[in-house]
Amino acid sequence: MIRVENLEKTYGDVRVLKGLSFEVGPRTVLGVIGGSGSGKSTLLRCLNGLERIDGGVVEAGGVRLEATLGAGEYARRVKTLRRHVGMVFQHLYLFPHLTALGNVTEAPVHVARVRPAEARSTALELLGAVGLGEKADRFPDALSGGEQQRVAIARALAMKPEVLLFDEPTSALDPRRTAELRATLRGFVRDGHTMVVVTHSMSFVDGLADYLLYMEAGETIEYGEAKQLLTDARDPRTREFLSHAR
Ligand code: ADP
Ligand code: MG
Repeated sequence: MIRVENLEKTYGDVRVLKGLSFEVGPRTVLGVIGGSGSGKSTLLRCLNGLERIDGGVVEAGGVRLEATLGAGEYARRVKTLRRHVGMVFQHLYLFPHLTALGNVTEAPVHVARVRPAEARSTALELLGAVGLGEKADRFPDALSGGEQQRVAIARALAMKPEVLLFDEPTSALDPRRTAELRATLRGFVRDGHTMVVVTHSMSFVDGLADYLLYMEAGETIEYGEAKQLLTDARDPRTREFLSHAR
């Protein structure tokens, strides 16, 4: 579950997020779309506590961050929040000295204290689900960009976070892999996860997202059911954006 109320984020004197509000229920996927620089990545970074919010409230995985909290309390809540909110970054940050399997088991073993044998069997299952069962022992530099991206996804899923955030998860994937990833993510949603997916790919969100939020310059232009928004957007700015997107 995610709740965002009047979220404001400012860099210097530039308002990057201008009072966003929305909710994402359990077993629900919100797709966030919008042009480059509209604030999509900043929104995700606020949702997992990487950026301190300057106004409003962010609630995710049962933890509430408020702009008015003192620094110490804010940091404490972010620490708890991170245990319930996972993120797959646009730039992947895999550990280069660990194999695909090692990357996926690292946090479960060292952060969540899962027994190594159990972490390994979960990791192999997840790597299988993203089509990398045969490549579990490879190091990142022996994997393609798309394969590295799938390792990063398996790594996020391995912590079984209640909330999963994805920043452009398909940027290095071909169409077949994109379809497979959509099916894998839908499976996780059925298991009870909440997801926010930032993407450029309308073919990826179609069939994955339940709701869509279209942003321009840090503001919500349109929010609605994904099917409705993709086929019959109300706002002319959304329609204009969609006419250029694929
Ligand atoms: P998107 O992901 O939609 O492309 P971003 O959230 O990355 O957009 O960026 C939104 C705006 O905030 C852009 O104008 C960007 O230049 C600015 N911005 C992002 N991060 C920073 C930062 N750390 N410092 C200053 N400005 C930033
Ligand atoms: Mg971005």
